[in-house]
Amino acid sequence: EGIPVGISACLMGEPVRYNGGHKRSRYCLEVLQACFRFEPFCPELAAGLGVPREPIRLVGVPGEAPRVVGARDPSLDVTEALAEVSEEFVARHRHLRGFILMKGSPSCGLARVKVYHANGMPSHADSGAFVHALRRHLPELPLEEEARMNDAVLRENFITRV
Ligand code: SF4
Repeated sequence: EGIPVGISACLMGEPVRYNGGHKRSRYCLEVLQACFRFEPFCPELAAGLGVPREPIRLVGVPGEAPRVVGARDPSLDVTEALAEVSEEFVARHRHLRGFILMKGSPSCGLARVKVYHANGMPSHADSGAFVHALRRHLPELPLEEEARMNDAVLRENFITRV
């Protein structure tokens, strides 16, 4: 049946990005799918943001949990909505053995996601909102970004941990 592994839904080719596009990963679909049974999830879609949608971004200062707001309209604050669906997902997916994430996303990015000051200037970097929920509730769950699977060492490290 394969090892159950969560994956950002856009990497499976699902057209769930803010602009209606996807980020289909050939490596995941043509190589990893031989041993993994993927369970796709898009936290932004689950939070009811719809497709297409206003792009969102992280806003805050170092040392504090960033808020997640509209990139064009900062009065659109989806912090609580995203946290809620992320926690629900985690509660229903304790059987997962790993999670493959889309880099750079304010929801799914594992690390190095840009956080902005309220005035729009870049501030620092953090993980995406969904990743915070994964780490909080499933601290042992192996996480990796699909983009880093190009690196044989990182790839083997992830595959042996799941
Ligand atoms: Fe959805 Fe995450 Fe992909 Fe963004 S990166 S489209 S939130 S699955």
